[in-house]
Amino acid sequence: MTDLNPGAFGKKSLDNLEIDTLVVGAGQAGVAMSEHLTQQGVPHIVLEKSRIAEAWRTGRWDSLVANGPAWHDRFPNMEFPVGPDDFPHKEQVADYFVAYAKQFNAPIRTGVEVKKVTRNEGRPGFTVETSEGTIQALRIVSATGPFQRPVIPAIAPKDEGLYQIHSAKYYNPQQLPEGAVLVIGAGSSGVQIADELNRAGKKTYLSVGAHDRPPRAYRNRDFVWWLGVLGLWDAEEVQPGREHVTIAVSGARGGETIDFRRLANEGITLTGLTKSFEGGKVTFQDDLVANLKAGDDNYLGLLDAADAYIERNGLDLPLEPEARKVFADAECIRHPIQELNLADAGITAIIWATGYAVDFNWLQVDAFDDKGKPKHQRGVSREPGVYFVGLPWLSRRGSTFIWGVWHDAKHVAGHIATQRRYVEYQDASQREGSVPKAASWE
Ligand SMILES: Cc1cc2nc3c(=O)[nH]c(=O)nc-3n(C[C@H](O)[C@H](O)[C@H](O)COP(=O)(O)OP(=O)(O)OC[C@H]3O[C@@H](n4cnc5c(N)ncnc54)[C@H](O)[C@@H]3O)c2cc1C
Repeated sequence: MTDLNPGAFGKKSLDNLEIDTLVVGAGQAGVAMSEHLTQQGVPHIVLEKSRIAEAWRTGRWDSLVANGPAWHDRFPNMEFPVGPDDFPHKEQVADYFVAYAKQFNAPIRTGVEVKKVTRNEGRPGFTVETSEGTIQALRIVSATGPFQRPVIPAIAPKDEGLYQIHSAKYYNPQQLPEGAVLVIGAGSSGVQIADELNRAGKKTYLSVGAHDRPPRAYRNRDFVWWLGVLGLWDAEEVQPGREHVTIAVSGARGGETIDFRRLANEGITLTGLTKSFEGGKVTFQDDLVANLKAGDDNYLGLLDAADAYIERNGLDLPLEPEARKVFADAECIRHPIQELNLADAGITAIIWATGYAVDFNWLQVDAFDDKGKPKHQRGVSREPGVYFVGLPWLSRRGSTFIWGVWHDAKHVAGHIATQRRYVEYQDASQREGSVPKAASWE
């Protein structure tokens, strides 16, 4: 086997390379994977079609900061060059992963796309077609991200006069045309974008579906701490019926709790889930009040769980009764809009903050169910030699988050190292044939 020496960022030809493990993608998942494979002594290469952590550079809006504080949303072996309770800007997050990869001289090759992976017949491993030639790999780790293909639902109007983008293509308020904007989806992206547009003086409508909205902080602890000590990051499966419940959090302006009632009082017009577009009109489901109530229940439930934890453990954390203050309902909550004429409302733009899908067209192996969903156990696929990291709920709720993927990558690298030991095993006759006895005992 030719080992592409960790000259890492070098430019050796890839064509005909033979490597033990190929990691596809160099976001945080690929970097974490490379670190653990390095520690396990597994020869590998990481191929990235763009740049390291590209999603943090060009797949996010300009003002985005991390949703979690720097002490928490990081890998264990390096800190951010900001205060522990600060929320690093997205460029600092990308810089962090570049610096992290350099720290252990990760064998990452950027600007190379993996186009097709197929299993070899009658011999081990996989044939990999890349934009820089064909390589052979015994193992493939897909680290191509949880959020690969922006999804805009089929209900999107065909009206060419409307400016419509997915949140992945939103950068700043200046890119939008004059007029009002409808943001559809109120997870962390939609709600932060709507807030930014409203603050920039745009008339903003925000369509709100089912969501969780943990307090940013409560009794001197960030919610990431509460989810940690309460064991909620480690939840292994989405509770049935909650698959479409998004989480609304923000690190903007030093971190603040998402409170839809406050946003409505600040001028954002909230609506229920977007139902359809027809004849220049948009209709909404009559579920705004119910969605806000469920979000409040989630919020208050976490406060209650935190209080109980403090009590049980006799912790000395200050009381915070003001966290239970409820803002008055604005007109849009008292009388939710069911239907809106886009032209009358002056809406010239729609931002679809409606999430992402995965795209595994390049991975042509038997690792998926009939809906195209990867079948795996903690990242170890049912197709021997194929692995996944960074997928939602790969092992737990935290799997797509920076700190979570690092732990999943460790598990996957451990599995690969174990498999390599099985392959390297030699029975007695092989050992006798290949290893001079005297030499091995001296
Ligand atoms: C708006 C937003 C904010 C977020 N904020 C936080 C946060 O504050 N804290 C946190 O912990 N998490 C956050 N996340 C979640 C998560 O950390 C990010 O989505 C992160 O980018 C996921 O990292 P990844 O490495 O799994 O995937 P990605 O960052 O998407 O990396 C995958 C890489 O694979 C490459 N690739 C794909 N296909 C191929 C191919 N065929 N060949 C070669 N390369 C390929 C891509 O170019 C890409 O660079 C946020 C997510 C979003 C959308």
